[in-house]
Amino acid sequence: MDKTRLRIAIQKSGRLSKECQQLLKGCGVKLNLREQRLIAHAENMPIDLLLVRDDDIPGLVMDGVVDLGVVGENVLEETLMDRQAQGEAADYSVLKRLDFGGCRLSLAVADDFDYQGPQSLEGRRIATSYPWLLKRFMDAQGVKFKSVMLNGSVEVAPRAGVADAICDLVSTGATLEANGLVEADVIFRSKAVLIQSGNALPAGKQQIVDKLLPRIQGLQQARESKYIMLHAPKDKLEQVIDLLPGAERPTIMQLAGETNQVAIHMVSSEDMFWETMEGLKALGASSILVLPIEKMME
Ligand code: ATP
Ligand code: MG
Repeated sequence: MDKTRLRIAIQKSGRLSKECQQLLKGCGVKLNLREQRLIAHAENMPIDLLLVRDDDIPGLVMDGVVDLGVVGENVLEETLMDRQAQGEAADYSVLKRLDFGGCRLSLAVADDFDYQGPQSLEGRRIATSYPWLLKRFMDAQGVKFKSVMLNGSVEVAPRAGVADAICDLVSTGATLEANGLVEADVIFRSKAVLIQSGNALPAGKQQIVDKLLPRIQGLQQARESKYIMLHAPKDKLEQVIDLLPGAERPTIMQLAGETNQVAIHMVSSEDMFWETMEGLKALGASSILVLPIEKMME
């Protein structure tokens, strides 16, 4: 094992793995991912990837086994509270909140349960894989309950008579609905985060981190931005620019052999709605193009 290479733990297979791999690829890291391998070496940078279960990622980072990790805040917080309760060290920092892996940890009850707020669960059994996050929420609400720890199939617990309610991750709510459950209260909102171990990194590794962070920033910013091009009549220029989302300093260009129209190019931090495009068209604009941006650096 080469100790000079930056070690990053990502989920091997699951909801975060594809986006983690795409993120690294977007940062210019060439990966050679073979199935069933725990470790993958980047070909063009001194980076090694550890492909593991997401539950193991916070611990690996906090123990300094890896330098960086990408994990959901839900798993991070849960591990943190668990380690603190066990008196284990939990030294890490969040380098960046990422723009994927969004979900919420919610209380859900059977659709015929009369839910009037967390108090309705006083003394009840709640099945969850997140006992610490659940306890923190219920303590704050002053509600006593019994935790039933389940690592999977939490959503079948009420039907199976194992629990009266569940506390589980939700994104669309389809799984809840399929199991005759309704979302009752959101207790935690989560996204994926990039975390770093507490130990200061040796200079060589720190250099790589300092390269990766602005690249991640550039990718995220690009995803939120659009490149907008259009032709507009010169005499309506101000009205056209007023309609453009977030247009501070658009580029105005001459069109060859055309004196009444100009071309406008701009980067917008917002998406352009059909309604805006129709408004532009009504002002006499034409050839309106909205393009995705792949990367950007300011
Ligand atoms: P592993 O085998 O790595 O332990 P897992 O089954 O625990 O995988 P996944 O279901 O792949 O985990 O989810 C990984 C993370 O993705 C979650 O911890 C959460 O942060 C995020 N996530 C986003 N949307 C959802 C969702 N709808 N349900 C569950 N997790 C979600
Ligand atoms: Mg897991």
